[in-house]
Amino acid sequence: MIETYDAAILGGGLVGTAVGIGLAGQGLKTAILDEGDIAHRASRGNFALIWVQSKGLGMVRYSSWTRHSAGLWPGFAATLREESGIDVSLQQPGGFTLALGESELERRAAFMERLQAQPGFERYPHEVWDRSQLRQIFPEIGPEVAGAIYCPLDGHVNSLRLFRAQHVVFARRGGTYLPNLPADAVTPLPGGGFRILSGGRSIEAARLVLAAGIANARLAPMVGLDAPVRPQRGQALVTEKTAPFLTHPIVTLRQTDEGGVMMGDSQEETGFDEGSGLGILGTMADRAARMFPKIGQLNVVRTWSALRVMTQDGFPIYQHSETAPGAFLTTCHSGVTLAAAHALTVAPMVAAGSLDASLDAFHPRRFHVPAAA
Ligand SMILES: Cc1cc2nc3c(=O)[nH]c(=O)nc-3n(C[C@H](O)[C@H](O)[C@H](O)COP(=O)(O)OP(=O)(O)OC[C@H]3O[C@@H](n4cnc5c(N)ncnc54)[C@H](O)[C@@H]3O)c2cc1C
Repeated sequence: MIETYDAAILGGGLVGTAVGIGLAGQGLKTAILDEGDIAHRASRGNFALIWVQSKGLGMVRYSSWTRHSAGLWPGFAATLREESGIDVSLQQPGGFTLALGESELERRAAFMERLQAQPGFERYPHEVWDRSQLRQIFPEIGPEVAGAIYCPLDGHVNSLRLFRAQHVVFARRGGTYLPNLPADAVTPLPGGGFRILSGGRSIEAARLVLAAGIANARLAPMVGLDAPVRPQRGQALVTEKTAPFLTHPIVTLRQTDEGGVMMGDSQEETGFDEGSGLGILGTMADRAARMFPKIGQLNVVRTWSALRVMTQDGFPIYQHSETAPGAFLTTCHSGVTLAAAHALTVAPMVAAGSLDASLDAFHPRRFHVPAAA
């Protein structure tokens, strides 16, 4: 028997479920097919930042897109809470990039200037804070901290609760979640629509969204899409719970709503290796303890690694297939930050049958620019 849907999404991570709740909210009968818990899943191992500062060097549109999503986040979190009963603990008090030493501070300040000086960049507020300013917010900083970059647009959430909330809202909006059902093959149907084969099952849908993370690279060519993505490993640690002392997230350090201090997150080209080890974890913990010596007194209770879904330039891909209309690709490495935009902006475009020109910058044709003669 063939099961039929208005839309099928391949991948039930943060990206697929965000698009899923958007499509289900538009009234589309939507299924998410997911490889399940054994899959490589960035969505369960990330650092949970909703981060604006430092995004977009090399593509100014990525900066405005990130800001767009950060701006949608308060409404998105409220909807998740209303419809799922889950509070994802959104906090957007602004965030910091701390510098150990003057030269690090100068480098970071110069980076922000270079970023914002790009033609067409929509400038947003950011400030370079010296040590004495910083001590007013963080009285417990270590002696090596020279200062920080502050941006009022940054924030964080409880990412595992976000993942859960998206699944619950998707189900409550009538969506069908099909775990342990990785798509083996996808074919466009002659009269329009798609057939997805998984094990012995056959599923058909008028719209198809590829949101299978790293697996998009294999699936995309089946429907005329292009997903040159690779895994990039990130490791992280979390300490035992402690009294609140980090009022704002720092790019490599944040205190969760539950009290643990998270330290992260590395960027390693190790293929599909999901291991973690003392070398890199030790370096991250050492930097954290130099920023806040009290962290050195806390017990680490868990370490892990996860694989980012990374493009060559680090920016997302949104694509509508020219040869198989109705097939879309959504992939990015900041799926927490962009969750609100995926649910509220990308999903309605998919439901309407085409991507808006405002997403043109994210088309993968940018990877195939011929070299100048
Ligand atoms: C260490 C680390 C730190 C991060 N920190 C942040 C951060 O602070 N802020 C931020 O915004 N982002 C962060 N990210 C990125 C964020 O986690 C990802 O962008 C996001 O999780 C990607 O979600 P995804 O759904 O695309 O991919 P994934 O979570 O990898 O999910 C892919 C899904 O596809 C499914 N799948 C695979 N193959 C198939 C198939 N053939 N058929 C059907 N389903 C399939 C899998 O089961 C899986 O559920 C971080 C990532 C890492 C690794």
